[in-house]
Amino acid sequence: MEGIVFDIKRYAVHDGPGIRTTVFFKGCPLHCLWCHNPESISREIQKYTKKVIFDGLEIEIEDTVGYRISVEDLFKEINKDIAFFDESGGGVTFSGGEPFMQTKFLKEITRTCKDNGIHVTIDTTGQTSKKDLKEVLPYVDLFLYDLKHMSDQKHYEYTGASNKKILENLRYLKENKKDIIIRVPVIPGYNDDNENIKATGNFISEINDVVKEIHLLPYHNIAEGKYQRFHIQSEMKKMKSLSEEALYPLKEQFEQMGYIVKIGG
Ligand code: SF4
Repeated sequence: MEGIVFDIKRYAVHDGPGIRTTVFFKGCPLHCLWCHNPESISREIQKYTKKVIFDGLEIEIEDTVGYRISVEDLFKEINKDIAFFDESGGGVTFSGGEPFMQTKFLKEITRTCKDNGIHVTIDTTGQTSKKDLKEVLPYVDLFLYDLKHMSDQKHYEYTGASNKKILENLRYLKENKKDIIIRVPVIPGYNDDNENIKATGNFISEINDVVKEIHLLPYHNIAEGKYQRFHIQSEMKKMKSLSEEALYPLKEQFEQMGYIVKIGG
């Protein structure tokens, strides 16, 4: 069986415990206006033109984002880092895009990793079916789970999808006693107001026996070049990146609700 991935990042230290190998799946069901990985949204392998400097001259070359890989070959890539996993308490993280856009492939690769004693984390938007979650659940140790906005309308406006399924799936993971780290991408003027932070904290209190930490991810305006490359209109062109310090008040707000909070992944 084959899947489509667009990157494999080694020695990652922000995608779960220890040193990890992060595999980025292609395809995402959301269209967040702030997306910093626009090349991950399409499920297809994409060609694009990039500009490079060669011998002092700017030239355009063709490149590709995404490639097919079999479960066996991907496992070989992951297993190369086993010594780092063992040493650091790390493992593999499947990210994207959205790994559940390729559930069959995800199931096979997570099962293979689990059978070989590797700690498995899935970094998910939560925008998937319960049926798909159930398929993969036995092979996952930890979920990194994005929570973007508690208002269904605002969620729809900024990501192109309702948050209903996402919240239902979080409850489902709690019923199944799966460890979760909640990740909140903090987007100025979108989800950093008092009302949403309170609502987010209240929702997490429903599932707090499985929530290990909350991670606040500051908005970074780093994807402009990628938007140009893929001819996508950036809706947040003018928005400035947030510093870590800017998130201290939000961190404190969540801490006062009793959560362990980190800034960054
Ligand atoms: S969920 Fe992540 S990858 Fe998907 S559109 Fe949003 S920011 Fe981009």
